[in-house]
Amino acid sequence: MVAQRTLNHPIRCSGIGLHSGRKVELALRPAPENTGIVFHRRTERGLVAIPAHAEYVVDTRMCTTLGKDGATIATVEHLLSAMAGLGIDNAIIEVDGPEVPIMDGSSAPFVFLIQCAGIREQNAPKKVLRIVRKVEVEDGDKKCSLHPAAGFKVSYLLDYDHPLLRSRRTVVDFSTQAYTREVARARTFGFLHEIEALQKAGLALGGSLENAIVLDAYRVVNEGGLRYEDECVRHKILDTVGDLALAGHPVVGAFEGERTGHDMNHRLVRALLADESAWVIEELSEADARAGMAMAGATSSQPA
Ligand SMILES: [Zn+2]
Repeated sequence: MVAQRTLNHPIRCSGIGLHSGRKVELALRPAPENTGIVFHRRTERGLVAIPAHAEYVVDTRMCTTLGKDGATIATVEHLLSAMAGLGIDNAIIEVDGPEVPIMDGSSAPFVFLIQCAGIREQNAPKKVLRIVRKVEVEDGDKKCSLHPAAGFKVSYLLDYDHPLLRSRRTVVDFSTQAYTREVARARTFGFLHEIEALQKAGLALGGSLENAIVLDAYRVVNEGGLRYEDECVRHKILDTVGDLALAGHPVVGAFEGERTGHDMNHRLVRALLADESAWVIEELSEADARAGMAMAGATSSQPA
C-alpha cells in the first residue's frame, strides 16, 4: 500500500500578503487520514474552515481565492503547489488574514517549511484521480487539457508579446524530475507598467523585487537575474500544480496548457469534475509508485 501523508509536527511562519501588503501569520498542522487540505481562516467572528477544493473557488482573476460563509483566503496556489509537490494529502493551514503570505513569490519557502515540519506516512491508502478520457477547455488562443498518462506531467506554452517570453514551452515529467528542484524555486512575474497601475489602484501593495520577477519592455529588472533560464514558464507550471490540487486528489495524467492562467486552470478542473466518465478515483498502486509518481509523494527518495 502507498500511504497517505501528513506533517509530522505543526509549524508556523509569517510574511506579507501580496495584495494587502499586511503581515499574515500562517500555521501548518498535521491532520487525520482523509481530511484533505483544509484552510482555517481566522476572522473577528471566529474560525471558518474552507476545504482546498474547486467547489470553494470564488475568484481567479489575480490569483486563486477560496471562500465560504463570507470568509475568503486569496493566493492559495503556491502553498497548495508545495503541498502537492511533496505529496501531502492531509493538513490544516491556519491563516489570520485574507491571503496566504507571498514569501519570495515561489513555493520554495513553503517546501522548506514542510520539510522542517517533517512528513509522516499515515494508515490509510493514498487515493489519486486518474484521467481516463481527455478533457479540454478553450477560449480564443488560450487552451488547456488533461489526458490519460502514467504518472503526472505538465507541458506549458508561455507566449507574451515580450522579447523574453515569446513562444516558450517547458515540459516537466514528475516521474523523472523532482518538483523541489525543477519547479519550486520559480518566482511569480509581472511587468513594470502593470505593477505601477495595480499599485495606483491599491492592489499588489506588497509586491516588490523581493517577491517577483519584474520585467520592463526588454529585460528582467531584478539585479540577481533569473533562477532558471525559463523561470517564468516554470512558475506557470508551479501555479498549474497548485490549481490542479483543487481537484481534491493528486492527478494521474498529463496536463497541456497554452497561454492559460488560474481562470482557465479552474475552468478545466470544473469541467473535469463535472464529467464523471473522464476520471476514476482509485488507490495509488505500487506499480505507479515504482514508476516514480513523484507528485503523489510515492517516491520518498525523491532527489532534492
Ligand atoms: Zn503564481
